[in-house]
Formats: sequence, C-alpha cells, structure tokens
Amino acid sequence: MPIQDNEQGATNQLKKIRSALRALRDAVILLNDDDGLEWWNQAAQDLLLLQSSDKSRRIFDFIQVPEFIKYYQEATTLNIDADADESVHIVSWQDPNRYLKCELTPFGDEKLLIIYDVTRLQHLEAMRRDFVANVSHELRTPLTVLMGYLENFSDQPDMPANWRRGFELMTQQTARMNRVVNDLLLLSRIEIEETHAFNEIDMTKLLTHVYDDAQAYNQEYKHTIHLHIDTYDGLYGSEMYLNSALSNLVINAIKYTPKGGNISISWTKTAEGCRFAVEDNGIGIAPKHLARLTERFYRVDSGRSRATGGTGLGLAIVKHVLYQHEASLQIESVEGIGSTFSAVFPNNHVRSAAMN
Ligand code: ADP
Repeated sequence: MPIQDNEQGATNQLKKIRSALRALRDAVILLNDDDGLEWWNQAAQDLLLLQSSDKSRRIFDFIQVPEFIKYYQEATTLNIDADADESVHIVSWQDPNRYLKCELTPFGDEKLLIIYDVTRLQHLEAMRRDFVANVSHELRTPLTVLMGYLENFSDQPDMPANWRRGFELMTQQTARMNRVVNDLLLLSRIEIEETHAFNEIDMTKLLTHVYDDAQAYNQEYKHTIHLHIDTYDGLYGSEMYLNSALSNLVINAIKYTPKGGNISISWTKTAEGCRFAVEDNGIGIAPKHLARLTERFYRVDSGRSRATGGTGLGLAIVKHVLYQHEASLQIESVEGIGSTFSAVFPNNHVRSAAMN
C-alpha cells in the first residue's frame, strides 16, 4: 500500500476515534506532562465550562476539590504496583446534588482523565441503604414483643409437653431473627455514619475487653486462647465499631475451630502501621470462597453457620469498619489446617504510645 494511503488511513482512524470520544456522555480530558489541558470532548467542555483559550491551563484551576487533588497526586506519583485507588468519588463543585467519579490513567508523560456522572447510582445506593435500615428498624419492636411473650409462656410449668418443643423452636428462631436485624442495623449505621465519632483508642484496654468476651464465649468450646500485645500503640477511630469488628473475627475463630483448638490474638507494629491478627487451627476455608467471604450472607456452610448462631453478616461488618479506618483485611487459610484473619491499620490511624 502506498505511504500516502497509509497516512490517509491513519488520519481517518484518528478522526473516527476523536468523533467517538466527542460523542461520549462522559467527560474525557487529555492532560500533558504539566497537568495542562491538551484536548477535551464536548461533555468535558460542558462540565468544566471550558473555552478554547483554556488549552494548557492546569486541571487544578478547574477542579479544586481536595479529594480529587489528593487522588490525582497519588495516581501520578505512586508507581503502578503501588496500592493507589483506581478512581475517586467527589461531589460536584457546581451542584451539591451531583456526584462524579474521576478516573485518571497516566500513559507516558500524559494522562487521560475520565469523569463519569454517577448521581443516579448514588441515589439508588442511598435508597437501598435507607430501605434496609428502615425495614430493620420496623422489625425491632414486633420482635421485642414476640420475644417477651415467648419467654413468659416458656416459663409456664404447666405447659403441655407437646407444646414445649414448638416454643423452644420459636424462641430460637426469633432470637436468630433478632440477631440478623441487629447486625443489619449495625451495618446500616456504619455505612451512614462518617468518621465524626472517632477518638483516640487505648488498644490494650480494647483488646483485653475483646479477649474477656472471647473467654466467656469459649466456655463450651474449651479452646486455648492467647493474647499477645507487642505494642502499646493505640488507634484513632471508633471504639464501638472496632470492638464489634475485632470481636467478630475472634468469635469466628472460636466457632469455626473444633473443640480444644488453639487461638492466638495479636497486636503488633509493622512498617505500614499496626496489625491485629487472629490465628486459629480450625476447619479453614477453601481458596474459591476467600474472595466472597465479606459479602452479606455469604457462608461456606450455611448449616454450620446457623448452628453456631451466625448471621452471615459478621465479615461484612468487619469489612465496613476496616474501610472506615482505612485498614485492610487479609485472610490466609488452608482447609483443614486453620485460618489467620488480619486487619492492617495504616500509620495515619496509629497513635504512638510514646506520644501519650
Ligand atoms: P457467620 O455469621 O456465618 O459466621 P461471617 O460473615 O462472620 O458469618 O463469616 C462468613 C463465613 O466465613 C462463615 O459462614 C464461615 O463459613 C467463614 N469463616 C469466617 N471465619 C472463619 C474462620 N475463622 N474459619 C473458617 N471459616 C470462617
């Protein structure tokens, strides 16, 4: 093919790509190595109110939202392997009812910025959250009444023998429903509440409390439980939610370990921050389940989970609490050998003991 035809072909292709990008409903912006605007489509022009004279002006002249600037700097300075966020959600600076998702992809010295309007998704998500919170809240009072009467009736000494089994089952099942409702309410509260209830937490005190609760729960399992506190460093966060999350991990270790097992709880300092870990020598988890464990109501074995009083919401609560504290959950497990669940808290949430 003659060179000219080749060039013509490439130019046509470029034109097509540009028209496609121009027609996109998402804002697309090409940025140069100085973070200046190089090229943009119609949606970006409408969103940022751009004019042709804005070419080469820096993106920060147009988007001054702190979360965006932080994300942008991390995405452009961290190397690819680092754990940078893939995108950031921000509230539109022009309209507080509009939500935007910004995604930056560096290539060579340039970057491609795509801004999606996620307002509808955010509203749907808020509706889902409110619905679950309202349903759970509405179920609370009827359940309390039911549980109260069941307890009263079950105490009657003259109850016919053929009714007793029925009452026992009703009591068990309402108690179970109550646990599910309470966990759903807790999850909703964690999702809705931001970080305003954060305080300095004495981790030695909190872990001792978690350990004492674990020992009380351990009565029928008779495991040996050890607590190793290797640092007096504390955390900045929500004591109530962390107590729930860390207790859930410990209670799981107790529940999913055959009687007489060994459980080790530890709090240690690492290069990135501090690590809470619970190690058990229990039933373990097959690799195919690991990625889904923190989904609501996901259980490896529903029968076993129910038999031990599980709601299937424990690890979802753990995930949300850790997310709130910018911590990550790591799970290592070998079926039949045991599991280690760890929560790694970053340095910005650690409160050094030396400073107290
Ligand atoms: P549940 O109320 O069922 O315990 P969770 O959300 O706490 O719900 O846990 C989800 C599932 O993960 C459990 O049903 C169980 O199959 C598995 N799991 C959690 N922790 C452990 C553990 N320490 N050892 C083995 N399996 C575990």
